[in-house]
Amino acid sequence: MKNIVNTFSILVTERCNLACTYCHFFAARGKKDVRRDIPDDLFDVYTSFIKYFAENSGTEVTYRFSGGDPTVLGDRLFDLAGRALKKIGTKPYVLTGGKCIDQTWIDRAKPVISHLFISLESPLSPDRGALKPEETMRIIKKYNSPDMPLLLGATVLRNSDFKNLYEVCRIVYEELGQLPNIQEINYLPYESPTDEELNDLYDNLRRVVADFHNKAPLNLFSYISPEFTSLHNKKQVFLSDMDMDNSFKMTMDNMDEMLKIITDYQWVNYPAVKCDKTDCEWREGCQRIKWLWKQPSPTISADKKFADYCRFKKTVNAAFYDALYPNAVA
Ligand code: SF4
Repeated sequence: MKNIVNTFSILVTERCNLACTYCHFFAARGKKDVRRDIPDDLFDVYTSFIKYFAENSGTEVTYRFSGGDPTVLGDRLFDLAGRALKKIGTKPYVLTGGKCIDQTWIDRAKPVISHLFISLESPLSPDRGALKPEETMRIIKKYNSPDMPLLLGATVLRNSDFKNLYEVCRIVYEELGQLPNIQEINYLPYESPTDEELNDLYDNLRRVVADFHNKAPLNLFSYISPEFTSLHNKKQVFLSDMDMDNSFKMTMDNMDEMLKIITDYQWVNYPAVKCDKTDCEWREGCQRIKWLWKQPSPTISADKKFADYCRFKKTVNAAFYDALYPNAVA
């Protein structure tokens, strides 16, 4: 099953040095109440389990540090990464907003961290609480190297910004030679798109795919249409969160039981789509969805959210298909 990748996301800190207004992590918890760093004993349980899973699951395994922003841990981040490397035999990668990245940080990270994903704001409508996109792109251009790749993390677009999608992609590609990793705003701050916003999304996305699919990997709306957005990566990726509350109740003594639970959890994380539209042209790629499309948000019911998923799916898939097969007969 080496075509399946299990990625474990260890939440190493709840603290963050940015204040993005759309942040789902703090929207769910309230920023004042979340200031914990991972305790050493829980970290050791998690890394022991990742090693056990890599040796016994028959799948490819990667792991990452997330938060909050892991870089707020300072020197402790490198200590944790070194301990994990020694136990698991591979380096973690790190998700960050990029604020702490400089030459000193890069030099400390290289022996124990494999690469970074740095979030990037839309250059046309940056969030006031995030790092300015010009600064993020400056950091990536300055410090990216083969032995410490700095890759683009998520660029979240509000529904009202779908009309700027093509321009956002063009600007980032011209600066960095890669396309942004575009995500809709989801989780708690989610809002339903209007028909006009979905029309903007179709028009812009079709142009992006047509103009860039031969130039750079596409990672556009992967929570909606992984079958199209993984054109350059044929592997099925499952993500399991290892949180500060040890929600799985993992211990050093229940690794075998946990291996079964985590394997089943993949399907909890990607539940089956229950849809009776047997004539839908996108049905084959619409068997399972990421769990968040079945969750209500404060103002949107679960049924409405799923109906929106269907609208998004048809829009995104049509844009990809029409761009990749412009001469196809309907
Ligand atoms: S895209 Fe919508 S109609 Fe088509 S299979 Fe998925 S949920 Fe059903």
